[in-house]
Amino acid sequence: MSRAKGPAVGIDLGTTYSCVGLCQHGKVEIIANDQGNRTTPSYVAFTDTARLVGDPAKSQAALNPQNTVFDAKRLIGRMFEDPVVQLDMRHWPFQVVSDNGTVKVRVSFKGKEKAFYPQEISAIVLTKMKQTAEAYLGCPVTQAVITVPAYFNDSQRRATIDAGTIAGLHVLKILNEPTAAAIAYGLESSGPGEGKRDILIFDLGGGTFDVSILQVDDGIFEVKATAGDTHLGGEDFDNRLVDHLAREFRRKHKEDLSQDKKAMQRLRAACERAKRTLSSGTMAGISIDSLYKGVDFHTTVTRARFEDLCADLFQATLKPLGKALQDANMRQGQIHDIVLVGGSTRIPKVQMLLREFFNGRELSKNINPDEAVAYGAAVQAAILTGNRSQGPQNMLLLDVTPLSLGIDTVGGVMATVVKRNSPVPTKETMVFTTAEDDQDTVVFEVYEGERPMCKNNHLLGTFLLSGLPPALRGEPVLEVSFSIDANNVLTVSARDKDTGNTSQLTITETRGRLDREEVERMVREAEECRAQDVAQQEKIEAMNSLESCTLHLKRAAEGGQALDVRAKKRVLEMCQETTSWLEGNPLAEKEEYEARRRELEDAWDSVFSNPSQGRGAEGEARDEAEEAAGAQQGEEVG
Ligand code: AMP
Repeated sequence: MSRAKGPAVGIDLGTTYSCVGLCQHGKVEIIANDQGNRTTPSYVAFTDTARLVGDPAKSQAALNPQNTVFDAKRLIGRMFEDPVVQLDMRHWPFQVVSDNGTVKVRVSFKGKEKAFYPQEISAIVLTKMKQTAEAYLGCPVTQAVITVPAYFNDSQRRATIDAGTIAGLHVLKILNEPTAAAIAYGLESSGPGEGKRDILIFDLGGGTFDVSILQVDDGIFEVKATAGDTHLGGEDFDNRLVDHLAREFRRKHKEDLSQDKKAMQRLRAACERAKRTLSSGTMAGISIDSLYKGVDFHTTVTRARFEDLCADLFQATLKPLGKALQDANMRQGQIHDIVLVGGSTRIPKVQMLLREFFNGRELSKNINPDEAVAYGAAVQAAILTGNRSQGPQNMLLLDVTPLSLGIDTVGGVMATVVKRNSPVPTKETMVFTTAEDDQDTVVFEVYEGERPMCKNNHLLGTFLLSGLPPALRGEPVLEVSFSIDANNVLTVSARDKDTGNTSQLTITETRGRLDREEVERMVREAEECRAQDVAQQEKIEAMNSLESCTLHLKRAAEGGQALDVRAKKRVLEMCQETTSWLEGNPLAEKEEYEARRRELEDAWDSVFSNPSQGRGAEGEARDEAEEAAGAQQGEEVG
C-alpha cells in the first residue's frame, strides 16, 4: 500500500473546540488559526451569502442561531432515534431531522433549505484545521491522526474517519483522546529506565468528562481503566450561569428573555467569557447592550456565586474518579501523577476538589490543558509517518475493552473470553464443545456485558460452524478466538481442531457495539444484580452438572463390560429416570439438582460396594466413567 507523502498533523476534533498540532524536527507546534487563536470553535454557520467556520461562526451565533451548528460530535455516528440525540436536540437552536433513520441538521443556506450529515459539519471543521496547518506550513496537508473519546463506538469512529475523508485527509489513525494526552504527558515525564508510572488523566472539556488511568513503562502506555460522563463539561457550567442571569434579568426588568433565541445566545457568549475570567479573577462583569426589548443588561458575578451555582456539577466529577480507580484495582495513593486535560480544568474549584480527593496531592499542569490531546495526536502522526525523532522509539499504545466479551453456552450462561478492561489489541482463545451427540453445526452467539446470563447482556452477532463429523457430546474441540485490533474492531473465529474447519464473525455493524451510556448502564446494572445473577448461574451450573453426570454414568454403564447385568440395569434405569425428571423440571431449585446428583453418585458407588463386584471390575468401570467425564473438552455451546 502506498502512503501519501507530506506532513501529517494531529487534530483534536472537540465537541466545543478543536486544535491542530504538528510534530517537526523533534518539536510539537500547536498551530494558531487566522484569528491568532490556538483552539478553534467547532462551529459552522450558514448565512445568505457565505459559510463560516470557527471563530467567525461562533461570534455571529447570537444573530443567526437557527443556522449556526455546533456539537456535531454529539450527533456523529448516531441514529435519529438514539435517546442521546432525542434529549440533546431539545437544547439546540438548530433543527435536527431524520433522514431514513440517520441524523441530519437542517439549515437555511444562501436562501435555500439544506440538510447536512454531522460528518459533513465535522468535515468543515476539519477542513478549517487542515487549512490552518497549510497556512502555517505553506504546503498541502493530506494526512492526519484524529482523536475521539475513548468510548466512541465503531459507528462513531467510522463516521469520524468519513469526516476526515470528506475534508481531504487520509486518516492515519483514530486515536483515543486520553491516550493522546498520555502520549503528550509521557513524552515530558517518562522515558526509558524511569520505571512504571501510574497516571490519572482528568479530562474536563466543553461537553464531556473523561477519567483514564494509564500506566507508562519504558515508553509503553497502557490504559488501565476509563470512566466519565458524556454530558458534563464547560457548557453545563455556562448553562448554570445563563439560567442564573436570565432569572436576574427577569427580577430586575420584569421581562422573560428565555424564549428569545438571539438574546439567549448573546447571554450565553457573555457567560462563557465571564466563566473564563472567574478562573483567574474573583469577579467578572457582564455588559450586554440592548439584550432584550431594548433593555441593556449590566451585572457582575463573583467566583463564589459561580461555584455555588455549579457545586453539584463539580462534585459529580468525583464519582467517575472512584469508579476508574476501582476498575483499575488501585487506591488513590498508587497514582503517581494526576494530569489535567481540557479547558474546564482551569476552574480553581475543580482543581481544589480533585486535589482534596487525592489528599492534597499536587496536580500536573505542565501540559496546556486545551492542547494536550492535539499535542499527543501530532506525536502519533509523526510516529506513524516514520518521523520518530520525538518520543520513545517503539512506543506501543494500548487501550482497553469497555465490556467483557464472551459466548453463550448451555443454559444461557455467558462464558467470558475477554475480560472487561483488557488492553487492546488483544487475542484470547477458549475451547468449547458440543451440547449433543452427533451435533454437526454449532451456533456461536457473541455477547458483551458483565452479567453472567447472556439474556441480560448485549448480543453482538451470531455465526455458525458446520460440518462437524459425528462425535459424542463434549468430544469435539472447538477453539474460539476473540481478536480485537488497534481500532477496536472485534473478530471472533471458531476452528474445529479435528477437521480444521473455520468460521468467523467480524463485528463492524453500525449499531453492533454499544456506546458509552449503554456501557455505563450495563456495568451499573450488573453491579446491582450481582447476587441475583450468582444464584441463577449456580442453579444452571447445578442443572448442567446433573445432566453431564447422568450422561457420563449412562455411557460408563453401557460400555462397562465389567459390570454385572443387574447393576448395569439399575444404573441405566436411574439415568433414564433422571433424564425424564430433568426434561420435566427445567426450573427446579439448585438444591434439588444437587440432591439428585448426590443420589445418582450414591447409586453408582453402591454398585461398586456390592460384594458381587470384584476390585478389578470396579477400577475398570470407574476408569471408564472418569474417561467419559474427561472426554468433555470445554464449555458446551448450542
Ligand atoms: P476543550 O474542549 O478542552 O477545549 O474545553 C473547552 C471548554 O473549556 C469550554 O467550555 C471553555 O469554556 C472551557 N474553558 C476554557 N478556558 C477556560 C478557563 N480559563 N476557565 C474555565 N473554563 C474554560
